[in-house]
Amino acid sequence: MAKGLGTKKEHILYAEAIAYHTETASTGQKEEGKMVSIKRIISKAQSPISNNQGFYLALILLFCLSIIPIQYKGCSRLRAGFEMFGDVYILCAVISMFPTHVRRSSKYVIYGFLYVIGLADMITYQVMGVPLIPNVVQTWLQTNWNEATEALRTQLSAGLLLTPVALFLVLPLVVYLTKRKLFIHRKLIYSLLLLSFASIAYGIPNKLYLYEVYTRVSDDDMQDRITAESLTHEYLPIYRLGLSVKETCRFSTMREHLFKNVKSTQVDSCSFESPIIVLIIGESYNRHHSSLYDYTLPTTPRQQRRHQEGSLYRFDDVITSYNLTFKSFQNMLTLYNYDSKGPWYDYPVIPAIFKKAGYEVMFFSNQHTLDKTSAISDFTEDMFMNNPGINSYMFDLRNAKSHTYDMDLVNDYLTMADTTARKPQLVVFHFLGIHLDFKQRYPEDEKVFKPSDYAQRNDLNQEEKMIVADYDNAILYNDTVVDSIINVFSPKDAIVIYVPDHGELVYDGVHELGRNLNRQREYILPQFDIPFWVFCSDSYKKHHPHICKQIEASTNRPFMTDDLPHLLLYLGGIRVKAYQRERNLIDEEFNSNRSRRIWGEINYDSIKAA
Ligand SMILES: [Zn+2]
Repeated sequence: MAKGLGTKKEHILYAEAIAYHTETASTGQKEEGKMVSIKRIISKAQSPISNNQGFYLALILLFCLSIIPIQYKGCSRLRAGFEMFGDVYILCAVISMFPTHVRRSSKYVIYGFLYVIGLADMITYQVMGVPLIPNVVQTWLQTNWNEATEALRTQLSAGLLLTPVALFLVLPLVVYLTKRKLFIHRKLIYSLLLLSFASIAYGIPNKLYLYEVYTRVSDDDMQDRITAESLTHEYLPIYRLGLSVKETCRFSTMREHLFKNVKSTQVDSCSFESPIIVLIIGESYNRHHSSLYDYTLPTTPRQQRRHQEGSLYRFDDVITSYNLTFKSFQNMLTLYNYDSKGPWYDYPVIPAIFKKAGYEVMFFSNQHTLDKTSAISDFTEDMFMNNPGINSYMFDLRNAKSHTYDMDLVNDYLTMADTTARKPQLVVFHFLGIHLDFKQRYPEDEKVFKPSDYAQRNDLNQEEKMIVADYDNAILYNDTVVDSIINVFSPKDAIVIYVPDHGELVYDGVHELGRNLNRQREYILPQFDIPFWVFCSDSYKKHHPHICKQIEASTNRPFMTDDLPHLLLYLGGIRVKAYQRERNLIDEEFNSNRSRRIWGEINYDSIKAA
């Protein structure tokens, strides 16, 4: 590292200050004294840079290499680069406080540590397309040593040397060769000092955010935290590693709890009231785009026909509890709801209850498969659905591969399940549904709606009309898929329930696409209003007339899907301690006055009424 020019300069400044002070002591002593103090403070403030110039420059180079080549999703590298100056300054200031005899060696240790993390982050990014985010670290931890080295061997190639990894590899050499020549001009030091302070002030909101994320215990908004988008906050590899370590520890606790939970599932009794229960979980389905719910374009003709025939019961006021897939999922599939105390993973899990009760539980998912080939997968969901130990207590049968289109899940059921078996079944279909990118969600030859069908929508340009058309085409395709499932089960004594995880903004009311946390009415309704219907086969109607009557009498009730487990348990005739009649949508004692708090906090009905 460069010899500290700053020490000398500090002496000179100090001597000048003393001389100046003595000379002018007789007149305006106080004012001059102030000047001297200010100079001393500035001199002290710049010492972390001037005393550690080589280290300072080496860190800036290292961090620039970690920031510039990694693609940010909608994040400015300029912003991250600016915040970096404050961080480097603070690190140098901390090192300046170390006792002199350990200062030099600690610089090597700290730099070496940051370098190794930076290199690992860059290799991960080049090989896997994402840097050190929790998903990656978790995958490594779940992989055994042989798999890991084999994967690394196949993915590490000479081609990596044509990426920024090469710059990382030559960086130590550059730092070593130039370490005696590295120094910063005195004037530049003051500019850097100014830059550092501005950067520290600018970075405060992000540091507060990081503090909140690192110390967070709940898993709210987790999906937002663990995806590549969170790079915008964890802009340096060390921050990403910090988050990964923290999340890995938290998830291992969650996994242990969930495993113990499903293993110790208790069922008091089971009458197998409904021999076949089919639960179809859709994805990103905005009710206001379904003609079953009076949308102007005919997007659900098959569901409408069955509704008119009287075999499909349409529920008119159903909302999801969360507009995030996994949060909605954990509420729908466990007896946890927002009134519950403690974490969701300590509450009884629906598939585990059905399996314990004696149902054969099947899961055909286009989002989660045990071999993790699915296009859309998530840290928490993988833990819940794909952990082999937990999985074995929940499901008897699962599809091996995911598919481009949801219709193939029906084939999975037909080919994999014993359709003649007499054992009661809970069959869960989990769609890719109408997940972004909408045009990928239906086969090209099933395209019906075109931008010209939205001629009256003056608020949309041609491209946006195409997006809405794609969304509606995917809804129409979804109609054919659910109809095929109904066709498979209609000759049996079966009941089919359709419920998506949440809705989606598709330029309805507001000029927005996707999902967000905006709390205004026009944002909430498209994201939380979901279709919900129940189909009863002729045989089911014949054998369970009381249930069909109960369903028919309940279609106007206000319902939030975190209470779905109580309906499922009732349909199965399963008795468990946590069952509550007032939460069962079709029970006479159903509580229609329940406060439907979305995100576990705000009242949906008061927002809707506003
Ligand atoms: Zn979703």
